[in-house]
Amino acid sequence: MTAHARPPRQATLDTLLAKPVHEIPAGNLETLRRKARDCHACGLWKHATQTVFGAGAEHARVMLIGEQPGLQEDAQGLPFVGPAGQLLDRALAEAQVDRGTLYVTNTVKHFKYELRGKLRLHKRANAAEQEACRMWLAAELASLQPRIVVALGAMAAQTLFGNAFSITRQRGRWRRLGEDTEAFATFHPSAILRTRDEQRATMYRQLVEDLTEIRRHADD
Ligand code: SF4
Repeated sequence: MTAHARPPRQATLDTLLAKPVHEIPAGNLETLRRKARDCHACGLWKHATQTVFGAGAEHARVMLIGEQPGLQEDAQGLPFVGPAGQLLDRALAEAQVDRGTLYVTNTVKHFKYELRGKLRLHKRANAAEQEACRMWLAAELASLQPRIVVALGAMAAQTLFGNAFSITRQRGRWRRLGEDTEAFATFHPSAILRTRDEQRATMYRQLVEDLTEIRRHADD
């Protein structure tokens, strides 16, 4: 899979995100990343270390969207660098996908957690926080205009396809998102890490198969 110069296309954000987005920050990815550093649109910035904006190839044709940053991502300011990122890297390597050709981001850009003693334990962003952060995802989509968007997990898939979307029942199928963009949903690596034994191996194999399918489609 290779990163290509971006063809001149118009992305329809309303279509890409399945509902209207009224205020979308504008600019190239570097400008957006800089603007997002000071975002206070929901309360998650207050207790997190930093905004974890998307990262990757500037003209990537394939954009991966996860859920929200974890502990390692919060510390490093980069998406998918913790245990879930390591599992994703392993699956990408098995599927012969070069991560350097991708743009990888999250639905929500700040780490949300609850304190258990000194531990900061992951806590899922609520609907209002997801809604507040949707402008940044919309901005990334508008700037990058990827040909293929991959939702990793339910949060990203429901942001793209609506709240009724079920990863278990509907993963692994191509969908159209606007005129020039196709989308695909698969498991989030964290969901695989949370699963035990045989089922974990099955889900992992399915993730590798899905990533292989995405690579083949992107190379067409
Ligand atoms: S989670 Fe998103 S909307 Fe909330 S403060 Fe962070 S960047 Fe802004």
